[in-house]
Amino acid sequence: MYEGSPYLRHLKRFQKTQYADRDEMLKWQWEKLSGVFRHAVANTAFYAEKYQDRRLESWDDFAGLPLLTKDEIRSRGRDMIARGHDKSSLFRMKTSGSTGVSLELFMDEDSLQWKRGCTVRHDMWTGWRLGERVGAIWGNPEQYADWRSWLRNLLLIRHIPLDTLKMDDGVMDRYHDTLLKKQPTALFGHAHSLYLFAKFCEAKGYDDIRPKGIISTAMVLHDFERTVLERVFHCGVFNRYGCEEVSLIGSECEAHRGLHVNMDTLVVEVVDAEGRPVPEGEAGAIVVTDLTNMAMPVIRYKVGDVGVLSNEFCPCGRTAPLITSLQGRIADYVTLADGSYVSGISLTENFHMGLPGVKQLQIIQEELDRLTFRIVPAGAWSEKDAAELEGLIRKRFGETMCYDVELVDSIQSEDSGKYRFCISKLGEQPF
Ligand SMILES: [Zn+2]
Repeated sequence: MYEGSPYLRHLKRFQKTQYADRDEMLKWQWEKLSGVFRHAVANTAFYAEKYQDRRLESWDDFAGLPLLTKDEIRSRGRDMIARGHDKSSLFRMKTSGSTGVSLELFMDEDSLQWKRGCTVRHDMWTGWRLGERVGAIWGNPEQYADWRSWLRNLLLIRHIPLDTLKMDDGVMDRYHDTLLKKQPTALFGHAHSLYLFAKFCEAKGYDDIRPKGIISTAMVLHDFERTVLERVFHCGVFNRYGCEEVSLIGSECEAHRGLHVNMDTLVVEVVDAEGRPVPEGEAGAIVVTDLTNMAMPVIRYKVGDVGVLSNEFCPCGRTAPLITSLQGRIADYVTLADGSYVSGISLTENFHMGLPGVKQLQIIQEELDRLTFRIVPAGAWSEKDAAELEGLIRKRFGETMCYDVELVDSIQSEDSGKYRFCISKLGEQPF
């Protein structure tokens, strides 16, 4: 059953298509896209209404289709399920939702197999091979949604999990022992959890975990985290970006020039506030269209993250375009007094690098002129640390910014296991 799974057939195909001529891939995507569009309009009440006056005869028509928002999925999700599909036979993808309101999407078995094939292909870019063990440092195993349990039981049985909601020294020490015994060839997890585990190993002088590669799954991987991971585990770090709703969106190859978009199951766009693609190299909102999920079509869905796309060809020989920069969630930008925006990632990176007394940091924008700095100190928080923080705040935000400091033992991850670097309560967004 394991070897006969459809995803392995897909995998064989994907190993070829990753080197296929890009124009050929675009032609293939167009065929799939047209099919999904026709199917969605003919078989769902939601798209029949949304696209009633729309035609899809060119990529330009496609770029003019109104975006699909999270609010629409929340309020109209039921009408997005295609005729002939029964919820009970579908896989439910549930997101925790950045505002506390979760989102539910349904995916058919066929789509899941396509995505699994893609994920395995990208896993293999690290040097890992099917059947080898993986150290999985992610989320809370009890909260795995249906599809994850399914995948875990069927496919991820080689995973050695570490519950990131309980990452104290004792737990990490035992986990290190387990990894030593089981010799995983890849480590996999959210960037900050991998980083915390690497820092722990380094502090203990453990220099004996040697995977072939590390897959960082949170969309945010700081350069300083990558440096520590490479140093402690003596291998490359492969950044990956995806979401529950459509699975893997982009993944880094061994050239580490950016994240190849997953052309085999998705159309990935970067758009402006009007939903039109931005010029190559400019930042914008990431929008995805699922080419495989016929049960609940997802067309031009605004994921809520900001990125930059490049059409340049990667030296690795794979032809998919690259996401060259991921700048965090749209909702995680801090608004400055002059109305400009700064991405939360660049801020926390800057503060982390500039403040040796800070182990972990979260910035919350309460009001236009008030920030809260939630800080896990590296040791005892001293007056010197406070003065350095003050200096950096003045440098970045000017003299008028008010701020509070909350010293905490840990910064809680969301249900997904991801941790937010920056939370804006203003409701204003750059894209
Ligand atoms: Zn590449």
